Amino acid sequence: MAGTMTIPLSEPTLIAPSAAALDEAGQRRTYEVRTFGCQMNVHDSERLSGSLESAGYVRAAVDDEADIVIINTCAVRDNAAGKLYGTLGHLKSRKDKHAGMQIAVGGCLAQMDKQAVLDKAPWVDVVFGTHNMGSLPGLLERARHNGEAELEILEALEVFPSTLPTRRDSAHSGWVSISVGCNNTCTFCIVPSLRGKEKDRRPGDILNEIRLLVEDGAIEVTLLGQNVNSYGVEFGDREAFGKLLRAAGEIEGLERIRFTSPHPAAFTDDVIDAMAETPSVMPQLHMPLQSGSDRILRAMRRSYRSEKFLGILDRVRAKIPNAAITTDIIVGFPGETEEDFEDTMRVVEQARFASAFTFQYSIREGTPAATMADQVPKEVVQARYERLIALQERISLEENQKQLDREVEVVVSVGEGKKDAETHRLTGRAQDNRLVHFELPEGSERPRPGDVVTVTITHAAPFHLLADAVDGAPLRIRRTRGGDAWDRAQSESCAVPAAPAAAGGAPRAVSLGLPTLRAGV
Ligand code: SF4
Repeated sequence: MAGTMTIPLSEPTLIAPSAAALDEAGQRRTYEVRTFGCQMNVHDSERLSGSLESAGYVRAAVDDEADIVIINTCAVRDNAAGKLYGTLGHLKSRKDKHAGMQIAVGGCLAQMDKQAVLDKAPWVDVVFGTHNMGSLPGLLERARHNGEAELEILEALEVFPSTLPTRRDSAHSGWVSISVGCNNTCTFCIVPSLRGKEKDRRPGDILNEIRLLVEDGAIEVTLLGQNVNSYGVEFGDREAFGKLLRAAGEIEGLERIRFTSPHPAAFTDDVIDAMAETPSVMPQLHMPLQSGSDRILRAMRRSYRSEKFLGILDRVRAKIPNAAITTDIIVGFPGETEEDFEDTMRVVEQARFASAFTFQYSIREGTPAATMADQVPKEVVQARYERLIALQERISLEENQKQLDREVEVVVSVGEGKKDAETHRLTGRAQDNRLVHFELPEGSERPRPGDVVTVTITHAAPFHLLADAVDGAPLRIRRTRGGDAWDRAQSESCAVPAAPAAAGGAPRAVSLGLPTLRAGV
């Protein structure tokens, strides 16, 4: 098994320092990256930040107006275009007052709209696509030098983006791309036309990146791909994903491995075995169902059926009994009848998901489903959606109630507990990825983000668990290298402006695909 993992590493992409990174007074120019969309985009934004910092730019402090604003767009989300052009409208008035400010637009929507971005917002300086993120510093420099907008969209990936420098948002946890693009043709999805065919990264490159992350203090990684379990299709190894999980599991110091998202059609039992037999692979699976109706699955061009989906869940639970399984579901796909929807409700009832990201179908221009007859009226979609949310919330609560009195290990996170300050709690993720808010008793040592606490669950709600101290006992804390890395990052940020994770500043929960609202954990 390990033999297949020793493939030579591809060369890292070098970004040259850019003269454009300095303003007229010789000061380093500041940048801000605003991210719309899924985890892929959030990770891409880390690479954009890394490329800019390699070229000499510095990240703007949270409340400062950056000299360069990069918008990393998403074409999957509802109303993505409205959000982009609304944001660009606001930025125009800022740019009018801010000498030398530049605006760049990249990502899926830029890949789709191309020249139209400049036609609609001629004050934009750079438009780049999903395949050429490493060109951003060069494009900014050219735009500044020539005094005109630069547009560069490549139709195919030339360099795997993970060879780009990266500036990560979390010290203890990192995303690692294993593939980009997708060979499937789901009729509701714009990804294949924007991200292209699946490109698999070599296992040696992936493992090397994980090792470097761990050396840097990460204790957790999430492997990312549109369709992780078809990983290996490009270099002809059908069992490559399971092997990758096992090989990652041998990396010393890596405590938690997660991945998103697998496709049910490509889900094979060797992956379940690898999950069950690799202690650092977490007992958690996010696997999109999309619909419980076989007729609708066919119309969506998703090649599994509900029985196969439920069979995978049974086999996962047989080997990993405490696995928390989550999903994505689309309500109101064109042609969905009441009977089809009842099928979805039945599968959801049987599947016992810990939580579900639920989406109301809406037309995405450029997808086959956009022109299908039988679009379901909005009020019907809304009513079904509400029934599905109510069902999933009940199940999420029941599943969370099973966690009561259990002892769980929680990795402390940043920014996930909005009410932490007022409730004297901290927040983190259990091994199965459930969100846990835990009490910080008076006088107890305070764990750092990335440290591990062991707590007992005292209260369950559909979207979270609470762990309040029993008899005021101090927290049981295990200090980790992840916490040490957070300390280091904090002391470095005393010299460098603090890092906003996204437009809003605090790190946000995101998912692959079509994120809007979720019912459950
Ligand atoms: S929904 Fe997922 S599997 Fe289907 S085409 Fe889009 S990215 Fe590929």
